[in-house]
Amino acid sequence: MIPPYRPEPLSDFTQPAVAAAFQEAITAVGAELGQRYPMRIGGKQVTGAASIPSINPSRPDQVVGYACRGSLAEAEAAVQAAQAAFPAWSRTPADVRARILFKAAAIMRRRRHELSAWISYEVGKNWPEADADTAEAIDFLEYYGRQMLRLAAPQELPPIPGEENHLVYLPLGVGVVHSPFNFPLAILTGMTAAAVVTGNTVVVKPSVEAPVVAAKLFEILEEAGLPEGVANLLYADPAEVGDFLTTHPEVRFINFTGSRDVGCYIYETAARLQPGQTFLRRVIAEMGGKDAIIVDGTADLSAAAEGIVTSAFGFSGQKCSACSRAIITADVYDKLLEEVVDRTRALRIGPATERETQVGPVSAARFQQKVLSYIEIGRGEGQLVTGGRPLPGGYYVEPTIFAGVHPDARIAQEEIFGPVLAFIKADDFDQALEIANGTVYGLTGSVYSRNRAHLEKARREFRVGNLYFNRKCTGALVGAQPFGGADLSGTDAKAGGPDYLRLFTRVQTVVERL
Ligand code: NAD
Repeated sequence: MIPPYRPEPLSDFTQPAVAAAFQEAITAVGAELGQRYPMRIGGKQVTGAASIPSINPSRPDQVVGYACRGSLAEAEAAVQAAQAAFPAWSRTPADVRARILFKAAAIMRRRRHELSAWISYEVGKNWPEADADTAEAIDFLEYYGRQMLRLAAPQELPPIPGEENHLVYLPLGVGVVHSPFNFPLAILTGMTAAAVVTGNTVVVKPSVEAPVVAAKLFEILEEAGLPEGVANLLYADPAEVGDFLTTHPEVRFINFTGSRDVGCYIYETAARLQPGQTFLRRVIAEMGGKDAIIVDGTADLSAAAEGIVTSAFGFSGQKCSACSRAIITADVYDKLLEEVVDRTRALRIGPATERETQVGPVSAARFQQKVLSYIEIGRGEGQLVTGGRPLPGGYYVEPTIFAGVHPDARIAQEEIFGPVLAFIKADDFDQALEIANGTVYGLTGSVYSRNRAHLEKARREFRVGNLYFNRKCTGALVGAQPFGGADLSGTDAKAGGPDYLRLFTRVQTVVERL
């Protein structure tokens, strides 16, 4: 009997025993840094010619691990391994496939703090953020396993005299998973688990920023009993293997989560029919955001300030759902700005692996440079009220706020993906909503208000995939709050929702005359 799905509770670090166990994991993982991680193709460990170092962004002199790097030959081998595994795996009963996910979830629970510690070292998440990443990975496994059981159950169709009708969800074939660095375990797990539990086989090419966490997922999938070749781990430079995989004649779908430009490029490239190709390649592309929190004069300003600071600076603003625009009606703009600035200045910045840290580094040197270059742009577009500097010792950027930003400014339109927040003044709520909708993105948004008419108007008109009222705009829960955006934020896949698995299937109707 499978119990109903419930999101995994987060760890409570105010409990001394929990904090001590997490610290122990940090220490233990610290002693394991610097190892080499092979690719896994067709169940075999493959080392490749070169290696990609994974750097601890809190302490760049520390190598978290070396990922063995493949090239086109390994990419081809991975597709072939997936192709070879497909016939048997696609015929494996859905409940058997689902049980592998449930088993993987159980292993993750046992290794929970260890996995979170790897996340903290590899991409610079502080304790609660890393813990939430692992909890979400467990949620995806539990939720998609149950969703597969639902899809595999007999589907209700109206009876037709003299005929028996069936509707079945079948897998597509071989797919490719391109995951982002910012949820190195959760998103990678969700994207992979959904594709395989529906009976597909995949080549998984994780972000170059997070190969070690990907290796941990593969250890777990193997231990859980995923057969050889069903999921293949390829470490490679996307510039080298990206197009090859996107246009490969045996690749039927691409499951991508990442930036808008890369997603749009893959969408376009994948659509072109290749010589001899007999199917339309499916692309699931979940992309960036320029997410806004609107606050009006009726709102609880302390709650709004807290929500803005958490949404903007949690994980240094490196969430697709992060608040990068605070759009405030003129009557409370100055007061709220002051409170947000005060709270921001009080944030403790430091190495992600240390207990007290609230804001860690950004995850790579190139991200730090990008964020700093946007801060330079921001100096010409608004008034810098706090932050703005890199800090020594790691890839740190101070939480930064610009005030008086025009809605069309670059820092109010382009995804920076770092701890930079633009404060924008609106005459009234209607204008605030218009400003919020005035980007190409539509991922998350939040409204703080006690005015029912404003909330109802936002419900109708705020064009985002995930809309929140009187709470932060990050932290969607698998199952309860399916996640994904509108417009150029993506293909509306709604990860963690009841429609997600359908994207990895084709549906067949079978009619037998009786
Ligand atoms: P990215 O676009 O640089 O990379 C994402 C993945 O695509 C990586 O695995 C990368 O190796 C691969 N890739 C890059 N170029 C490729 C190519 N030409 N062909 C094939 N694959 C290629 O993104 P990132 O920096 O890792 O992640 C941050 C971005 O992801 C942000 O824009 C963020 O908003 C977005 N994101 C969106 C969601 C969502 O659900 N909408 C969730 C998390 C992150």
